[in-house]
Amino acid sequence: MRRFPLFLTLKDRHALVVGGTEAAARKTELLLSAGARVTLIADKVVGEIAQFIADGAVTWIGRDFDDGMLDGMSLVIVATEDEAVPARVSHAARQRCLPVNVVDRPALSSFIMPAIVDRAPITIAISTDGAAPALARRLRAEIERALPATVGRLARFAEIFREQVRRTLDEPRARRRFWDRVFEGRIADMALAGDEFGARRELIRQLDAARSQDRSAAFREQGMVYLVGAGPGDPDLLTIKAHRLLQSADVVVYDRLVSAEILAMVRRDAARIYVGKRRGQHCLPQTEINDLLVAEARAGKNVVRLKGGDPFVFGRGGEEMQALMSAGIAVEIVPGVTAALGCAAGTGIPLTHRDHAQACVFVTGHLKDGTVDLDWPMLARPRQTVVIYMGAGSLPVIASRMIEHGLAPSTPVVVIANGTTSRERRVVGTLATIDRLVSGVRLDGPTLCMIGEVVSLASVRDQDFGFVSGMGL
Ligand code: SAH
Repeated sequence: MRRFPLFLTLKDRHALVVGGTEAAARKTELLLSAGARVTLIADKVVGEIAQFIADGAVTWIGRDFDDGMLDGMSLVIVATEDEAVPARVSHAARQRCLPVNVVDRPALSSFIMPAIVDRAPITIAISTDGAAPALARRLRAEIERALPATVGRLARFAEIFREQVRRTLDEPRARRRFWDRVFEGRIADMALAGDEFGARRELIRQLDAARSQDRSAAFREQGMVYLVGAGPGDPDLLTIKAHRLLQSADVVVYDRLVSAEILAMVRRDAARIYVGKRRGQHCLPQTEINDLLVAEARAGKNVVRLKGGDPFVFGRGGEEMQALMSAGIAVEIVPGVTAALGCAAGTGIPLTHRDHAQACVFVTGHLKDGTVDLDWPMLARPRQTVVIYMGAGSLPVIASRMIEHGLAPSTPVVVIANGTTSRERRVVGTLATIDRLVSGVRLDGPTLCMIGEVVSLASVRDQDFGFVSGMGL
């Protein structure tokens, strides 16, 4: 360790900032957020600093620096473009043993500014000892992603009980075990989710159990299940929350639509259970999936049930939620980018557009007893976009029914396979031509169909992606 990290109390202390630059503005803002009283020396200042001065948050001195300005200061930061000033201020500050930082000049600094993650009261400071500030910023971004924005709430919640737990459990090891259980388990989940009442009740119950040495009650904690949308395939379309849960899950239950890139993000020692279809075999029946989720949660595991797209869009998420709720298991839904939205964005097709479509309908084109059972008059209405999930096999029926019910045969249609992934393929045509065009190509993987005038707005990148045809696009 080349420098010693510490957290400095600056509340109501005086801090000096030399310089009126953008960098000076950022440092000033940080100092103010730590409660410091900032005096700023500069002949010119950027707008942000001018605003601080106008608000009375900063005292401004428009003269050159002299040593006397260090009187009463606790900290000095120099962020000026002036050549000579930094060395002079640094020297004067060091003579007085005052901590000084000169932006981008580690040799003139007695301390360096870390990259900061602020989840008050939790503060995380990251330093590469000046070696690679850009790397420190990347690490900060990763930590910000991994830490829910509400983690500060958890710390404040724990603070409320700190004394009570100390009095109740006077053996330090028992106390540490107790807090570990609080932060690992459901209590933390509830506090993070804002259910402070539930978290308090559970904490008090566990504290009682721990006091009465009733270990079994303290450990009888149930896990919970998160129904998480994995998005349409591109791992960058995962939500931050989904990513965090994948990193903390004990068990991940997933099916066919979840891409390998996304599975690679699962915590290394989590159990992965595949419940999708295998070649020539059926997937696990839904009731068995439900039973599996219930059993894992009852065993105290935190379970992520990972589903392609969004769990509540043609994903049976509703059925799983009901099964869990009736078994008394806590369940939380984490939405995902559904295939229609991912494919629309990827192909540049606005699902609604003031000139073309005022409505958008999502339907499933699953064959029922060999027929497609859809509300054709509703789907064939003008000025709307129809998105059909699971409809590849029924495309000829869909196209001819739409024409029978009044849509022009020239209505644009796109069929997209493996949307948002590097294996994406699309075929563009019309209701009259799409069936012939699609049968001329092999489309593997999940396939989505969009019908409507907006399809003609697709941004065409046929040099980037597979096969694009028809429509003269
Ligand atoms: N819950 C999912 C849908 C599950 S149903 C969601 O919200 O997206 C499965 C159907 O979704 C597939 O048959 C296909 O029509 C569609 N689908 C899912 N991912 C897709 C993708 N990457 N590209 C095209 N269609 C996709």
